Amino acid sequence: MIRLHKSSCPKQLTKDIQKTLTDEFIASGYKKAVWNKTYIKSSLLSESHKKCAYCECLIGHGHREMHVDHYYPKKKYPLRVVEWNNLIPSCPHCNKSKNDVDPTEFPIINPYEDDPKDYFYFKGYRLKCKKGRYYEKAKNTLNVFDLNDPDETGMLLYKCGNGILEKIEVIFEDIQTYANTKDLNLCFRILRAIKNILKQGVKDSEYGAYMATIIHSSDEYNNIRDMLIGLNLWSENLESLHQESISIKFDITG
Ligand SMILES: [Zn+2]
Repeated sequence: MIRLHKSSCPKQLTKDIQKTLTDEFIASGYKKAVWNKTYIKSSLLSESHKKCAYCECLIGHGHREMHVDHYYPKKKYPLRVVEWNNLIPSCPHCNKSKNDVDPTEFPIINPYEDDPKDYFYFKGYRLKCKKGRYYEKAKNTLNVFDLNDPDETGMLLYKCGNGILEKIEVIFEDIQTYANTKDLNLCFRILRAIKNILKQGVKDSEYGAYMATIIHSSDEYNNIRDMLIGLNLWSENLESLHQESISIKFDITG
């Protein structure tokens, strides 16, 4: 889960259209999916980096079906059924899990208003709730979406995370060989490999916040970066990926 920023309301969703769609929804007995418009879904997808706002899995074309979650549930708050700030892109699992939970009674994180890093830390491939004033909201969110479910994400995070750590270990050995041999082909391979690893821990990548945490908790990664800086090989592009991944990573202690 990463902090998201709401884009401006699509120009097609004017006040008049919002009123018409809301009336249609109420007239249908709260059944008609009036939010199911291409211009709404594509704007939501682009502001969430094509990911579920809650669990960070990829959604939309070629991935899981995209659902539109109503942060304030549409059956209890029908007048907010197409209110732009109430629409959250989500995967089927998260949308169904949240169902009609009312955040005014059972507070849960809104990734457009809350920074998930303030609520969670990530350790042993599991999200943990930070103690303190955010604890209850974090615990509610973890339970509603079952964010540590081994079947949904747990095993995948372990597999991807372990794959990243293995690749980092290989690069760590390669860079020591390069320091002795100055083999240019090896140098290019190292730079390509470290760039590909960092690209897994940015906003656009699936489970980016988790992967960023795994990358930055690796001693070898930090050593590799130091060595590449020392060899004058750490480019602006690598630094920009490095900084982006730092901005979304979780802490590793509570
Ligand atoms: Zn999800």
